[in-house]
Amino acid sequence: MYEKLRQEMVRQQLIRRGISDSRVLEAMGRVERHLFVSEDLQQQAYNDCALPVGGKQTISQPYMVALMTQLLELKGDEKVLEIGTGSGYQAAVLSQLAAEVYTVERIRDLSERAEALLTGQMGIDNITFTVADGSIGLSRFAPYDCIIVTAGAPSVTEGLIEQLKPGGRLVIPVGNRTSQILYQIRKTDSGVEENYSTGCIFVPLIGQKGWDAE
Ligand code: SAM
Repeated sequence: MYEKLRQEMVRQQLIRRGISDSRVLEAMGRVERHLFVSEDLQQQAYNDCALPVGGKQTISQPYMVALMTQLLELKGDEKVLEIGTGSGYQAAVLSQLAAEVYTVERIRDLSERAEALLTGQMGIDNITFTVADGSIGLSRFAPYDCIIVTAGAPSVTEGLIEQLKPGGRLVIPVGNRTSQILYQIRKTDSGVEENYSTGCIFVPLIGQKGWDAE
């Protein structure tokens, strides 16, 4: 049943809305999204919406995961940083498309649950989990080919750009605490280039270069 719902999700929510990167479509057709939500929400896992994952946090809408992943322009050999592990779903999709994934989460319980599922249960071996304030990036493993921020930031900080390799891509929602614009930012020899933007709604990025905790 979930396999059918997943392929339907890929067709109706992703392809019809213009997601065209075949590797992203294949990865999202493979990763079992229903495993990333609690049992009572599994039937809704392939719906066109975000869902709660505990700690007032969410697993993002499938289309938003696909769009952000497509904007990273992954070919397979990249080192990627994800800020905001949440359920681990986005990290699982990235693990299929890049060589190494580093994911950072400020809520320990979410990080530990995601690690148990991805590394323990699913046997994925190219993701490194860290509990920390990712609003300042994760300098320990920098530089990255790509950085994806899956929470809404007040601004694009220099620190994140510094942790990118030349030619690297940063995909980040920037705006206020409740609504943002999604940017794809490319690091160039002369600075940065903004390539894409659309409206989106993410939970706030909380931390030193993010918003204050409420
Ligand atoms: N990528 C996630 C997934 O696939 O389920 C969804 C992420 S959820 C929309 C945003 C996540 O960012 C939350 O889990 C939240 O705790 C986390 N977060 C917020 N501020 C953070 C920070 N400064 N550092 C790391 N994680 C942060």
